[in-house]
Amino acid sequence: MTKSTITESKKLNYPAPSLTYFVKMPHPNSHLFEVGLQIEYWSNPILDLKMPVWTPGSYLVREYARHIQDFKAISKDKQTKLLSQKVSKNHWQVETKEVDNLLITYRVYANELTVRTNHLDDTHGYFNGAALFYYIPGLEATPITVEIIPPNSTWKVSTALPAIPEKVNQFYAKDFDTLVDSPFEIGNHGIYSFEVLGKPHQYAIWGTGNIQPKKVIEDTKKIIETEAKLFNGLPYDDYLFILHLTQNNFGGLEHKNSCSLIYSRFYFRDTDKYNRFLQLVAHEFFHLWNIKRIRPKALETFDYEQENYTPSLWFSEGTTSYYDMVIPMRAGIYNAQKFLEILGKEITRFLSIPGRKVQPLSESSFDAWIKLYRRDNNSDNCQISYYLKGELVSLLLDLLIRAKHENKRSLDNVMVQMWEQFGKSETGFTPHQLQRVIESVADMDLQSFFNLYVDSTEELPFNKYLNPFGLQLKAIMDDDSVPHLGIKVQSENNKQIIKFVEKGSPAFVEGIDPEDELLAINGIRVTADDLNQRLKDHQADEIVSVTVFHQDELKTFSVTLGKPQPSRYEVVQIDNPSPRQQENLKGWLGKI
Ligand SMILES: [Zn+2]
Repeated sequence: MTKSTITESKKLNYPAPSLTYFVKMPHPNSHLFEVGLQIEYWSNPILDLKMPVWTPGSYLVREYARHIQDFKAISKDKQTKLLSQKVSKNHWQVETKEVDNLLITYRVYANELTVRTNHLDDTHGYFNGAALFYYIPGLEATPITVEIIPPNSTWKVSTALPAIPEKVNQFYAKDFDTLVDSPFEIGNHGIYSFEVLGKPHQYAIWGTGNIQPKKVIEDTKKIIETEAKLFNGLPYDDYLFILHLTQNNFGGLEHKNSCSLIYSRFYFRDTDKYNRFLQLVAHEFFHLWNIKRIRPKALETFDYEQENYTPSLWFSEGTTSYYDMVIPMRAGIYNAQKFLEILGKEITRFLSIPGRKVQPLSESSFDAWIKLYRRDNNSDNCQISYYLKGELVSLLLDLLIRAKHENKRSLDNVMVQMWEQFGKSETGFTPHQLQRVIESVADMDLQSFFNLYVDSTEELPFNKYLNPFGLQLKAIMDDDSVPHLGIKVQSENNKQIIKFVEKGSPAFVEGIDPEDELLAINGIRVTADDLNQRLKDHQADEIVSVTVFHQDELKTFSVTLGKPQPSRYEVVQIDNPSPRQQENLKGWLGKI
């Protein structure tokens, strides 16, 4: 059905169609959600149903329709079967003829526990709207009722959607976007309510581990207050954190007034790991402004059927990542010294990826759909994450603005202006408009900055921007540093498999390939675990023989080892900073 036929039906004064989804899970161990869609007041001969191929916040075509089975369409009153057919991978068409009240039923296999997929077993049900519900082209703006029917009365339902008063487990979504933006957690999870700035908040925690909910809530409150201060208030009525605790996992997906988090169940005692969790909280929460409301033009209206390309994810994700380091420090969760330590680790990671010299930042963002989420053993040689480089370009912009305006202006002002100009009205911004806002806050022309660091692969000049703050980047060489070979090796089933060969490294130059099986150095067996120790027995410029199986063929390479690479980079204070530098640093990070 087309948009015009719906508009015409409204013209003829038929009531607008009403949409109700029922979600049952009578046999949770089957991993099958049983979904019903009741449509009343239907007035067209054909009904089109489409399943999203991706979900906002995760820029990869995931083909959610591949989990659908047992599709049926019947008339509600006569219980007669309606003819239907698939017309493309995610598009079903039903011949409704004169039927105005119909029921669509189908099952969805849900056995992938991530923040962006569905999971159902006898401990809980979790789903994302994009991976469970059809939309009807032309009716995306129609309100939808969702009724959850748990397998037993002890299972509770947590979602950011408002509950319909006096109804049990019935919820209201004002349109399809809102339905997609509101994941559900159903089960015996822990529910922890708290208030921040007069607004109700909740944690829904599934899984056990060494989490201390009281402490997590205290620290989350500080993060919420700090971010609310930056943006002058909280633009929602209530907020839900869905947290899944599992063996070894990390991830988050942002929504307008909720987020889904997944984290390792025993990572809450160790301070650094706990800080990393709070960075995740700060990150997903920051997104409720930056990307959920302050959206690039390409994401102003979601096209659920195909890729939505934008060169600006470096701002939406990278700037959010910069703030996920800054916010916990401002909130008093860790100090400035710890912030600089985290920053040093991020810069170390960045400088170890040769792809930073190949792929510009804006291109990394644009190609997210085919590159960042689809990594292979050449990825680090040819691409750079828009999260990582975007975070470091955001650092440079913050430092540039702060140094020029003696900390009276900062990247905070950029965020506030983007919020005022685009976020509040949810008007998409173009790359040019973003640059204009940054230039107006910086009060200078930044065309060459954008040319070099966003649209090209020029090395980021960290020291130039750190110096006004009395800081510098220092390469640290450990005493017993390792001559450079340039491979990463993993032990798999007692085989030592080369997983990465760094572009331009001694191993790369001689032709050693990823997926080669590493056997020996100078004729003696070597393993992933002892490779570095073995290399320490040699010097830079020394030639060693490296033996591998390449496609089952035994090969020996003579490799000239390179100079040891820095073990890591640290951001440290320079000797004898001037009063101006000290003042700048204090204005940025507070007391060091
Ligand atoms: Zn993010």
